[in-house]
Amino acid sequence: MKVYKFGGASVKDAAGVRNIASIVGAEKGRLFVIVSAMGKTTNALEGLLDTFYDGKTALALERLQNIVDFHNRIIAELWGRPFLPDRVARFYMELEETVASSNPAVREYEVWYDRIVGYGELISTSIVSEYLAAVGIANTWVDMRECFVTTARHKDANVDLERSAERLVPLVEAADSRVYVGQGFIGATEDGAPTTIGREGSDYSAAAAGYILGAESVTIWKDVEGILNGDPKRFDDVCHIPEMNYLDAIELAYSGAQVIHPKTIKPLQNRNIPLHVRCFLDPALPGSVIRAGVQKNREIPILIVKPSQVLLTVRANDFSFILEERFAQIFALLDEYMVKVNLIQSSAVNLDLCMDRTRHLEELTERLRQEGYYTRYNTDMELITIRNYTPQQLAALEGAQDVYLVQRTRRTLQAVRRREE
Ligand code: ASP
Ligand code: MG
Repeated sequence: MKVYKFGGASVKDAAGVRNIASIVGAEKGRLFVIVSAMGKTTNALEGLLDTFYDGKTALALERLQNIVDFHNRIIAELWGRPFLPDRVARFYMELEETVASSNPAVREYEVWYDRIVGYGELISTSIVSEYLAAVGIANTWVDMRECFVTTARHKDANVDLERSAERLVPLVEAADSRVYVGQGFIGATEDGAPTTIGREGSDYSAAAAGYILGAESVTIWKDVEGILNGDPKRFDDVCHIPEMNYLDAIELAYSGAQVIHPKTIKPLQNRNIPLHVRCFLDPALPGSVIRAGVQKNREIPILIVKPSQVLLTVRANDFSFILEERFAQIFALLDEYMVKVNLIQSSAVNLDLCMDRTRHLEELTERLRQEGYYTRYNTDMELITIRNYTPQQLAALEGAQDVYLVQRTRRTLQAVRRREE
């Protein structure tokens, strides 16, 4: 069994879906295909959720209509006529019922997020599965909410691999298909409450499926030629890295490289499954592979920019030593508000945290104040990470006006910088 993962960009229009069919059709062995929401659907669903959550039902329904129209246009182009696969119709209806009539008695935003935003994947996989069947590729559509058992950390859940195996393995065996189509990004708690695993998390879904099914490989199909040493949309002169080991890959992904989700590497490393990154625009290209036994990359500087960061400074009003006396308390609070911290620096009484932007920032800093801390923060920051940095890159960042914090080890340089306008 191999696992293929197709992201939103690969299914953003009818041509994309046809292209997937040709890639899946070219593979003769068994395949478990993980698909993300089409194009920018997840963003659109987040927009819908916000209006719904604020009680603006009419606007939410209008946004839903736009999402429905977008998918219907793709379906009409694929089939050459208006057509509504049963499953797609059902998901439209469920979404509409939720948006129109639900009483937001549950106030938790993250719970609503998971009830609504995961529909992007449910709809996209239904369309892809139906289309594959229509062009002669028999397949089994899999509802990953019934297969991936996750933690209840809504909007950022983790897949419990062993419990999920108890569900996914028998399902795959019973269906006995060559091709399976399942959603990235979603799962459910033990009690069946829908969850999502973090933005861009479909890579992790694919890795989890690969781990559980003992796949011979996992392939992420992207619109780039493979792993590059920087974002080609931001930097000129980027170069292609054909091979990488798991350790370099996990560091790279964690620093914010868009190419793979950071949670992806662990399940693959644990079972020694190679991860291929290939280009869906040109499947003849070799792409890149992440696997064991590849030498450390010591030469090519890799430049990663993680946007949407906040730099938060915390200090105990009573001058307690921050690491010795307060660290655990601060981190328990950060965990409660599900804040993702990407870099920390401490002095005697100050703790600087570079973290992902969160909608709970006000609540968090208020709680910290109540607990006796002084806080200060800057939003609009970005985190720069350079692996194998050059002396020139170091000097440039250390000398820059808009850089608030620099840290380095022998191989890795990190800086928190005010975002360029
Ligand atoms: N559709 C989700 C997102 O856009 C998950 C993914 O694409 O991996 O974040
Ligand atoms: Mg996506």
